Amino acid sequence: MTEQIENTLRVLSGQLPGRVSRPGDEQYAAATAIWAKPVGRMPRTVVHCRSLQDIQLAIAAARSAGLSLSVRSGGHDWAGRALCDGLMIDLGEMRHVVVSPDRRSARISGGARAFDVLAATDPLGLAAVTGSCSAVGMAGLTLGGGYGPLIGRFGLALDNLMAADVVLADGRIVTAEPGHNEDLFWALRGGGGNFGVVAAIRVRLHELPNVVSGMLIYPFAEARSVLRRSAEAAPSMPEELTVQIGAVAGPDGVPVILLVPTWCGSQGEGDAHIAPLLKLGTLLDNTVDAVRYGTSLSVFDPHIVNGQRTFMETCSLPALDDAAIDAVAETMAKAVSPGCAIFTHEFRGAASRVGVDATAFGVCRDHVLIEILASFADRSDPSAERRHQQWVRDTLGMFDGIALPGGYPNLLGPGDTARAAASYGPNLERLIGIKQHYDPDNVFRSAIPLPSVRHAIAAE
Ligand SMILES: Cc1cc2nc3c(=O)[nH]c(=O)nc-3n(C[C@H](O)[C@H](O)[C@H](O)COP(=O)(O)OP(=O)(O)OC[C@H]3O[C@@H](n4cnc5c(N)ncnc54)[C@H](O)[C@@H]3O)c2cc1C
Repeated sequence: MTEQIENTLRVLSGQLPGRVSRPGDEQYAAATAIWAKPVGRMPRTVVHCRSLQDIQLAIAAARSAGLSLSVRSGGHDWAGRALCDGLMIDLGEMRHVVVSPDRRSARISGGARAFDVLAATDPLGLAAVTGSCSAVGMAGLTLGGGYGPLIGRFGLALDNLMAADVVLADGRIVTAEPGHNEDLFWALRGGGGNFGVVAAIRVRLHELPNVVSGMLIYPFAEARSVLRRSAEAAPSMPEELTVQIGAVAGPDGVPVILLVPTWCGSQGEGDAHIAPLLKLGTLLDNTVDAVRYGTSLSVFDPHIVNGQRTFMETCSLPALDDAAIDAVAETMAKAVSPGCAIFTHEFRGAASRVGVDATAFGVCRDHVLIEILASFADRSDPSAERRHQQWVRDTLGMFDGIALPGGYPNLLGPGDTARAAASYGPNLERLIGIKQHYDPDNVFRSAIPLPSVRHAIAAE
């Protein structure tokens, strides 16, 4: 077997000179250095793809050698889904972004990150729907969902997907868009990387010369009242205003409550809509200003450190009600290190108006996504791993009883098949059928975990 694998990889290296790397190579080290510190599996080989044909060859080699396969785009999956113990397809060199002449869409290569897109769109006063961090891969974000600061006005990133060029498990190259491979197009919007390697996406662009955005910081001692007032104000906020909330360690390690409002409506109106958020308590800092959309996404950059060990949990709440606010305040008071944090993402407005059967994404009602995060760098303390993991689990447990079924599939780990299934709700059966059709051998099994048809039927 090993000989067959080595022969296949030798042939592949000959077909793609300089584009196949192994442990010990610089290219290998760069491609496998993902956001979350890898534990366990590392690829036997990495194929640094530059074209559709490279991807075809990589898939064929993995299949003929019986190697597992994974795809690395922006490398910001917390569970390290980009890594497997077989062959990793690295799209890091496929980062082109081309804005269409009519300025209404952009073609984005499969390995581009949000900052690659922003570099092309910001100078034109245009914006694509991204997440809230510029380092995250656009394909990974969009295929699984894409909550972000523009969600109320323009929906999820996946609601703005217009087409995708996909290399399928059998090597065929297809375009999925309205009118062509519509079932695949439906499944790609929410089903993650389960159906093939997405070499490029075309996404809708929006005229957005500026946003009004920044960080508002309140003391943790006022957490309950600040969060309550913010939650009370939320229903009357216009859809153009999105507010992300965080409970995080401040510069001195003591927790603070931060609010990141982003106004993406008419210029000149933002300050008035954000004004009530400045009066929620004792404001410690305020960096809100009119800035380019890309600049607004750099707010979190200094805090996004690559290579830390990370535990993450997720759930969705119908609203940030008193029980949820109590849970946030209580659990953050027991944080085991400054790497513990809770973030929210809003889901409302344009996102909630998309019909539940329009895409594979299953939770299409107003809700608040909760991200529970515990990162640490120092692995010399053997108990650190256990303490951080336990804190994340305990925190998730505090939302039991008020959370909607499932969680955000993009943040669910490899063992979370049942929760991923619950997140797809009424779309699960169709999604599994499409997976079965396009990837019957489950070649892309490192993606968001989906139950097999057999399991889904057995569970009914
Ligand atoms: C710091 C941080 C901030 C985040 N912020 C947000 C946010 O604001 N909003 C939000 O919705 N999510 C957010 N996420 C979650 C993020 O959207 C997912 O983790 C996403 O999968 C990351 O995509 P990536 O391309 O960077 O990751 P990768 O690790 O490169 O890819 C993850 C997986 O996605 C699939 N995939 C990626 N690209 C392709 C492709 N071209 N073809 C086929 N499959 C592909 C593959 O299964 C791959 O293994 C954040 C994550 C992190 C770590």
